[in-house]
Amino acid sequence: MNLFNTLTRRKEPLETIEQGKVRIYNCGPTVYNYATIGNFRSFIFADVLRRALEYFDAEVTQVMNITDVGHMVDDADEGEDKIAKAARREKKDPWQVAEFYTNAFFEDLEALNVQRAHHYPRATEHISEMIEIIEMLLANGHAYEVNGNVYFDVDSFSHYGDLSGNTIASLYAGKRVEVNPEKKHPYDFSLWKQDSRHIMQWDSPWGRGFPGWHIECTAMARKYLGDQFDIHTGGEDNIFPHHECEIAQAEGATGKRPVVRCWMHARFLLVDGQKMSKSLGNFYTLRDLTGKGFDATAIRYLLMSTHYRQPLNFTLDGINAAKESIRRLKDFRLRLEEAAAPDNNPNLAAALERGRHGFDEALADDLNTSAALAAVFDMVRAVNKLDLSKPDAQEALALLRRFDSVMGVLNDDQAGVLDEEIELLIKQRDEARANRDFATADNIRSDLLKQGIILEDSPAGTRWKKA
Ligand code: ZN
Repeated sequence: MNLFNTLTRRKEPLETIEQGKVRIYNCGPTVYNYATIGNFRSFIFADVLRRALEYFDAEVTQVMNITDVGHMVDDADEGEDKIAKAARREKKDPWQVAEFYTNAFFEDLEALNVQRAHHYPRATEHISEMIEIIEMLLANGHAYEVNGNVYFDVDSFSHYGDLSGNTIASLYAGKRVEVNPEKKHPYDFSLWKQDSRHIMQWDSPWGRGFPGWHIECTAMARKYLGDQFDIHTGGEDNIFPHHECEIAQAEGATGKRPVVRCWMHARFLLVDGQKMSKSLGNFYTLRDLTGKGFDATAIRYLLMSTHYRQPLNFTLDGINAAKESIRRLKDFRLRLEEAAAPDNNPNLAAALERGRHGFDEALADDLNTSAALAAVFDMVRAVNKLDLSKPDAQEALALLRRFDSVMGVLNDDQAGVLDEEIELLIKQRDEARANRDFATADNIRSDLLKQGIILEDSPAGTRWKKA
C-alpha cells in the first residue's frame, strides 16, 4: 500500500518494521461525552485501514487508547480536565463519568460494525508506565520539574515542529501566549501536573498529581507496540500539539527515531457545509441520529465513502443515499443467491477480475475508499447483466464477501435495519407456534442460528441475542 505520511507530506510505500506485520496506534476517545459523528469519521477511517491491511494479508496489531484523565479543555495544558468538567455537569464523580462514556463508546462501535482493536488501554491504568517515561526524560535532560509539576523542554528537542510545521521559531512569530512563570519557555508542555482540586490523583516521585494528555499516548503506545511502530492515526486536529508532543516525548526518552514510520490523519467533517457546532444546531452524536431512526450501517457507509483526506460534507440526505447504496448491494446479493442458469457464463471471470483489480488498486492508493466503492458498483452493474449458474453465483458472492470484509456494511448480524428482519422472523415463528406448526417454527429458529442469532423463549415472549 502507498499511504500519505503527514510527517513527510507525501505518499509512500508502507514499509513496516517487521515484514508482513503492521503495528498501529489510534488516538481514541476522551470519554467525557458521547462521541460525535466527527469523532467517528476518524475511528471508522482507522477501522477501514486495519481491515484493508488484513485484506492484503497483513498481520495487524491495533491499539486504541481510552483517555479517561488529563485531557484539558484546551488541547494545550490550560483549563479544566474535560472529565472533571463533565463530572460537575452530571453531578457524578469522574470515575463514573469515564466508565459510563467508555461503555457508550463501545456500544457505538458495535452499532457501526467497527472491528474491536486488540487493546483498548485506559490512561488511568497506565500511570506507572507514564511515570517511567517522565523519569527517562528527566534523566536525559528533556524535562524539568518545578514545584511538583514536570514539563517537557521543547528547546531540547531539535525535531519539534517536523510533523506540524509548527517549529518553535514559527510559534513565537505567531500569537502571543500566556506565560506560565514555572515554564522555561512558553511552549513547554506538561508531563505531570499538580492540582489539589483534581479528584483523580496518583503518587509519583514529584508528589501526588496526574499526567498530561500527551504522555498518556506515548506510554500506552510504547507498552503495547514497542519503542517504534508502523502507523499512528488520529484526526487532523491531533497533529498539533498532541502528535508533535508525542514524537518529542517518545524520541526524547528512547533516542530512537522515528517513533512512528507513518502518521495518518483524517480530515474534519462538515455538516451541511459547516463546522459542527452546538450553536448551529448541526452537532450530532451517533445516538442523536439513530434516535431519529437513521440506520447506523448507513452512517458507517457515508463516513467511509469519502476518501479520508478529503473534506466530508455530512448531510441527512447523504445517510439516505448511503442506505440506498447498501440496499443495491443487498439486492445484488439476493439475485446471486437465486441464480440458476444451467450453464456457466464465460464473461463472468473478466467482470469479477476488473472489479477486484479496481478495488485493490484503489485501496492500495492511500486507502481511496471512494474509488474502491466505485469499483464495487461497476462490478455489480457488469455482473447484473449476466445470466449466471449456481457455481458462477458462488464465485461472485465470494468476491462480494471479500469486498465486505473491508466495507463492513453487509453483515447480517448487526444492529440497525437488520434487527427489523430478525424481529419479523421471530413474529412469524411466534405465529407458527401459536398454530402448532412446529416444523416451521423450528426451521426459523435454525435458520437464525446459522446467522448467529440465538432465540430464547420466556413467559414474557421471545428474545434474541448474537451467538
Ligand atoms: Zn493520543
